[in-house]
Amino acid sequence: MELFYHQDAVLDWARDHRVHHKYSETDADPHNATRGFFFSHVGWLLVRKHPEIKAKGHTIDKTDLWADPILHFQKKLVSNSIETSKSDRTPLSVNLINLFGEISYCAVSGRKDTMPPQDQQTGSWVLHEADFNKDATVIVPPSAEKRKWEIVWRNVIIFVTLHIGGVYGAYLFLTTAMWTTRFFAVVLYICSGLGITAGAHRLWAHKSYKARLPLKILLTVFNTIAFQDAVLDWARDHRMHHKYSETDADPHNATRGFFFSHVGWLLVRKHPEIKAKGHTIDMTDLWADPILRFQKKYYLILMPLACFILPSYIPTLWGESLWNAYFVCAIFRYVYVLNVTWLVNSAAHKWGSKPYDKNINPVETRPVSLVVLGEGFHNYHHTFPWDYKTAELGEYSLNISKLFIDGMAKIGWAYDLKTVSRDVIEKRVKRTGDGSHEEWGYENLNVPTQDKINTE
Ligand SMILES: [Zn+2]
Ligand SMILES: [Zn+2]
Ligand SMILES: [Zn+2]
Repeated sequence: MELFYHQDAVLDWARDHRVHHKYSETDADPHNATRGFFFSHVGWLLVRKHPEIKAKGHTIDKTDLWADPILHFQKKLVSNSIETSKSDRTPLSVNLINLFGEISYCAVSGRKDTMPPQDQQTGSWVLHEADFNKDATVIVPPSAEKRKWEIVWRNVIIFVTLHIGGVYGAYLFLTTAMWTTRFFAVVLYICSGLGITAGAHRLWAHKSYKARLPLKILLTVFNTIAFQDAVLDWARDHRMHHKYSETDADPHNATRGFFFSHVGWLLVRKHPEIKAKGHTIDMTDLWADPILRFQKKYYLILMPLACFILPSYIPTLWGESLWNAYFVCAIFRYVYVLNVTWLVNSAAHKWGSKPYDKNINPVETRPVSLVVLGEGFHNYHHTFPWDYKTAELGEYSLNISKLFIDGMAKIGWAYDLKTVSRDVIEKRVKRTGDGSHEEWGYENLNVPTQDKINTE
């Protein structure tokens, strides 16, 4: 099956061939001719691939080909039919029904694009580039059917108390706290924020770049200060959010309104769909990381230390009161970072423009980007989730996370930073954008006014 799987679709063939040229006659070349006539002729198809091929495969840019809906469509048909022979896969009939469903969904919803798989799925289906050929899924049209809310009162009480403490902490921050304490609170905000954005989000959930051990440890510490649950849990929820975006299997389904996607989702029992679909998310890559397993295993010791105890203790070293330190550096800072992170799920799925894909709800919002260290370019991010910038341009002033990752790349702690080529972005903007793109929007094209009106 390996043989078919990697031979059939143009996308696979072209990837192999690009590897063949780039790493010609090394072990990363699929049919490395230095291993003899027989191997390079057919033998390479009869043995397991050399690990180097997999290791180097990521360095091949295939975004140009993946952007072609015809190739995407072929790949999908091919891999679906091949996968039926694996016992644990969805039967072919189901896949064909799914495919039919997608096509008719696009027909019903009046999309002009005749190639639904590309259109629908680049936006909401993919976690990172290498994930394109994972299991096929029907994307349920954004919907929010009536549901019975089972409120978890314990969480309501915790979050209400926290927020009262947070407001009081903000008051102390503005009034009696020492300047050093204020400065320390801001440092904690940036560090714990990076633990979410550069760590849990870009490094782990999307694997948009790679990190060496010291950076992984640093980001795990930062992430623990943020107390948004262990990376392993955060990344699973986030992969669900992308794969099943704006359906009931999306933990913070934004079609259920601002409040639900902001914090409400943490106050009620999870929708059964989340559990039902949860097992379709592959987390083996992250579970293989001993640092993340360590964080998860000792979370109930590490988290209180990193998020509450140390932030309350450290300011007393320069003479701050424990009371101020606790409310400003622990509670206020924690509640503040929680809320700016939540804005990505609420505001950035609601108020803004959609230059990259007008068919999805996530939007571009600069104010959110500013407070959440560069994560507000959310229409771009849902369209190209594997880009480490989570933005097309990534100006440093609005994207501190990118500044941080670039800095880490300079000293060699971060590498293999994934981006999307200008060409691919341009094509996508012209195909599915809402016309608001600064460079390739309608302003700069000679689109008849009538067409502009029609797309609004
Ligand atoms: Zn060639
Ligand atoms: Zn989102
Ligand atoms: Zn994401």
